[in-house]
Amino acid sequence: MRLGIYLILMLVCCSSNLLFAQERCGTAAILEQMKTTNPEIYAKIQERSKTQVNAKITDDIYIIPVVVHIVYNTEAENLDDTRVYTQMNVLNEDFRRLNADIEFCLAFYDPNGDSTTGIIRTYTDTTEWLLSFSEEVKKTSQMGDDAWPASSYLNIWVCDLQDGILGYAVSPGASPEVDGVVIDYKNFGIADVSSKPYDLGRTCTHEIGHWLGLTHVWGDDGGTCAGSDGIDDTPDQSEATYGCPSDVLLDDCSTEAPGIMYQNYMDYTNDACMNLFTQDQTSRMRSVMETYRASLLTSAAGCNEIGPLPGDIAEILVYPVPTSGQFTISIQNFLGYQDNFNIAVYNSLGQIIASANPAAANNVAQYFDLSYLAAGCYIVKVFNGTYFLSQQFMVY
Ligand SMILES: [Zn+2]
Repeated sequence: MRLGIYLILMLVCCSSNLLFAQERCGTAAILEQMKTTNPEIYAKIQERSKTQVNAKITDDIYIIPVVVHIVYNTEAENLDDTRVYTQMNVLNEDFRRLNADIEFCLAFYDPNGDSTTGIIRTYTDTTEWLLSFSEEVKKTSQMGDDAWPASSYLNIWVCDLQDGILGYAVSPGASPEVDGVVIDYKNFGIADVSSKPYDLGRTCTHEIGHWLGLTHVWGDDGGTCAGSDGIDDTPDQSEATYGCPSDVLLDDCSTEAPGIMYQNYMDYTNDACMNLFTQDQTSRMRSVMETYRASLLTSAAGCNEIGPLPGDIAEILVYPVPTSGQFTISIQNFLGYQDNFNIAVYNSLGQIIASANPAAANNVAQYFDLSYLAAGCYIVKVFNGTYFLSQQFMVY
């Protein structure tokens, strides 16, 4: 009997874990919550999604000032500025592609007109933000951090979200106090290997897609072909796609080539396997900028330059100088995101002479004995799984 109860409990736990694992984006769940907590706003959002237009009105580049609220309980959750810069860089690469012509910058002025880095850090006693109460991360009174005025800033909260939920957004039309996106700290910016396959900052790209009026490409219709994302140039799709498919992928709703568009940022594929918004998605986002989010286009928040990325501040030193072929390669400040760390030495013809895979660390020193090398110019290349560095050196 006891065993029976234990089995039932285990089944319940496993199935709920499975549910979380499958629903990596909480946007639809948060909208559902709003139906009971804030029915008026819910109705407004539904109305907007029915009446939105796809017209691309102007060719201007829209620049969106951002404030990142890092709400942390542990030091690991208190992401450094560099990590934030990597996220801003990913957003700008993803939203400029295919001429979405939308850019993001960290705000230069706070709501009082004082200068800011656009990154706010707030300690919290909350160790994990379950979706059922995660909106509290947007309230200082609830151990979170208040939104800055949504008319002037895109608010991004970074915190330890419920396991399995990588992020969520509120759609255009929500109350200003909750307007913005929430991203789990593990999936924000270019993350380390432990966050694979959601380590390349695409969760934030996906959630800002929601924030700019897009829905999931499969139409959130529970596996049927009844729903649509309301976008003409994305194929019908029955369910979310996971992993990293290749070639043509057909399903019940798209039975012929070219099949479903699993590379779309509004699907659930791995970060490394997403790479596009369509023209019509782009037009939808720009039309939301021109209507529901038009005040951002005249925001007085200003822009900070995005700070240096890990590849920019890292250094390679080869010593002694000059070298006879026995030398040490030291890599410094190649910040935190290593995976398959590799150091390789090439000759001037581009042929590989030697390589090493030291344990990943921010500062690495690797000794090589290549005293047989002919005199000449050589190149050392370092790859940390995300960024490349290279440096020339002479052997005499
Ligand atoms: Zn989503």
